[in-house]
Amino acid sequence: MKVALVGIGKIAIDQHVPAIANSPDWELAATVSRKGSVEGVEAFDDFAAFLSARPDVSVVSLCLPPVPRFDYAEAALLAGRHVMLEKPPGATLAEVHALQALAAAKGLTLYTTWHSRMALAVAPAKAWLADKRILKAHITWREDVRKWHPGQDWVFEPGGMGVFDPGINALSILTEILPAPVHLTAASLEFPSNRQTPIGAKLTFSGNVTADFDWRQTGPQTWDIEVETDHGPMALRMGGNVLEINGKPAGGENTIMGEYPALYARMAELVARGASEVDLAPMVHVADALTLGRRIETEAFDF
Ligand code: NAP
Repeated sequence: MKVALVGIGKIAIDQHVPAIANSPDWELAATVSRKGSVEGVEAFDDFAAFLSARPDVSVVSLCLPPVPRFDYAEAALLAGRHVMLEKPPGATLAEVHALQALAAAKGLTLYTTWHSRMALAVAPAKAWLADKRILKAHITWREDVRKWHPGQDWVFEPGGMGVFDPGINALSILTEILPAPVHLTAASLEFPSNRQTPIGAKLTFSGNVTADFDWRQTGPQTWDIEVETDHGPMALRMGGNVLEINGKPAGGENTIMGEYPALYARMAELVARGASEVDLAPMVHVADALTLGRRIETEAFDF
């Protein structure tokens, strides 16, 4: 199937382009980006021009930041294209509901991807937890924004989500692996004095679940989810790629290179089945944290 990539920036180049190139299902037929392009692939800098010039490209994968994404997704669906959305799937929950309704009305596939759910140890962790009683869980997601998002000011603008941009990856895993849903009960959010979105967040959920997200961690980076159960502890480390049960390695591998190939394989399957996959559970927690969170002002942040 032919796919167009829209928003040729960091994640498109790092993950989408190689995942498509190595997939038996997909051909990268076009790109749409104001500045970016991919060598050897027809490049457009205007989405409407792409839609009218390339009716043969039936699938559009949107790698833009969340705020500009809705207009592109809506235009793609109105033009009869299946749509794959980077995470988080939108700037607001309501706009994703609107896309879901539009895709259903047009009989098109809409896929809200969550790449961290494709991490190697997530499915085995979910299977192991399925018949356990969860006593406690804690997420530690601490990374260096300067290393992973150099100069990306949009993350600190309204709708950019701040530290929830990586934190929502942890929440996408949590909402996948827990045998029963939890809901947010309290949050404290640290906003740099010169920015619109938080750089640190501490979250409390029902069911004795807590989370610590921080974007100021230099040195070793931490992407851990630790769960205590009635059958002992389980931990997911390295962003869901490595599993430990009772303190011992129990599966996975320290690589994220399988996540995007798995997303594109899922998209191929959804299009073939004429189905959509829209799950907003991780984003509901972020919206609730921004609704309920106590604001703490912290020192100004500049890249
Ligand atoms: P990015 O490099 O800052 O942006 C991607 C591209 O989108 C830009 O190069 C730009 O291309 C286009 N764009 C930016 N703002 C736009 C606007 N207002 N209107 C139209 N086009 C615009 O961002 P990214 O890091 O790739 O992240 C994109 C999405 O992927 C985010 O939702 C993020 O959460 C997700 N993601 C990122 C990572 C990561 O490691 N960075 C990992 C996983 C998922 P042109 O200037 O050429 O138009």
